[in-house]
Amino acid sequence: MTEYGDAAALAPRFAEIAGHANVITDPRELRTYECDGLTSHRCTPAIAVLPETAEQVAAVVRACTRAGVPYVARGSGTGLSGGALPNADGVLVVTARMRRVIEVDPANRRAVVEPGVTNLAVSKAAEPFGYFYAPDPSSQVVCSVGGNVAENSGGAHCLKYGFTVHHVLALQVALPSGPLAWIGDGTGAAPGYDLLGAFVGSEGTLGIVTKIVVRLTRPRSRRWGPAAPRCPRSSAPASCPPRSR
Ligand SMILES: Cc1cc2nc3c(=O)[nH]c(=O)nc-3n(C[C@H](O)[C@H](O)[C@H](O)COP(=O)(O)OP(=O)(O)OC[C@H]3O[C@@H](n4cnc5c(N)ncnc54)[C@H](O)[C@@H]3O)c2cc1C
Repeated sequence: MTEYGDAAALAPRFAEIAGHANVITDPRELRTYECDGLTSHRCTPAIAVLPETAEQVAAVVRACTRAGVPYVARGSGTGLSGGALPNADGVLVVTARMRRVIEVDPANRRAVVEPGVTNLAVSKAAEPFGYFYAPDPSSQVVCSVGGNVAENSGGAHCLKYGFTVHHVLALQVALPSGPLAWIGDGTGAAPGYDLLGAFVGSEGTLGIVTKIVVRLTRPRSRRWGPAAPRCPRSSAPASCPPRSR
């Protein structure tokens, strides 16, 4: 006997919200989601939903809350702390089909992305404008920006530029009670309590992020990608390019 509502019974409602193709109930297919990067802990969810829009996420969350069914958000499942570990009686809300870079706004040095967009995709979208997205976990080819927000992720660039929390300007969030709400004003300088700071790093416990406004950074050197080969001073050939500043 479970203390929760019947998650499997929500399948028809989820199909209405997100479409049949975005609802997974087959136990063999659900095994795909049984763990994240912390593979020592495994649990198959009762059902998985892959919404395509923020409104669908909010409707799924509302349905879960009304039915008393627990839910867990999942981005790309690379987390190493078991945060995306499903509940056996619950719903896994997977953001993998929310992968649009909605806007790159170089004039205001920011971009608006959906939570399933991979970390590296943000820099790739910003590169033609001369910008990049500074937080760079080494899983950046795969991990999602939504997951980065939940884990306050970072990599080598963060020694110089700070972590995810320093590069998130606003979040749209599906709150547990169902509505979509914005946190932050998109400038990073909103007065009042630092709710963004509280949300970033909360591991999905405060709500599901459905849109993210990120700060874009202009590299000092145009070479923000893999380190450029350096010529040793003494043996530098005449053709060795001067180092950019
Ligand atoms: C090889 C490898 C290298 C790594 N290197 C680094 C590194 O250098 N730096 C670093 O910080 N981490 C690193 N990680 C850990 C991991 O990649 C990061 O924590 C990453 O941010 C997780 O993103 P994800 O999309 O995979 O999230 P998931 O694993 O899917 O989820 C992680 C957490 O975020 C929550 N979540 C996911 N999406 C949302 C959402 N839309 N709204 C609210 N909550 C959400 C989940 O519920 C869970 O609690 C590494 C992992 C691997 C496997």
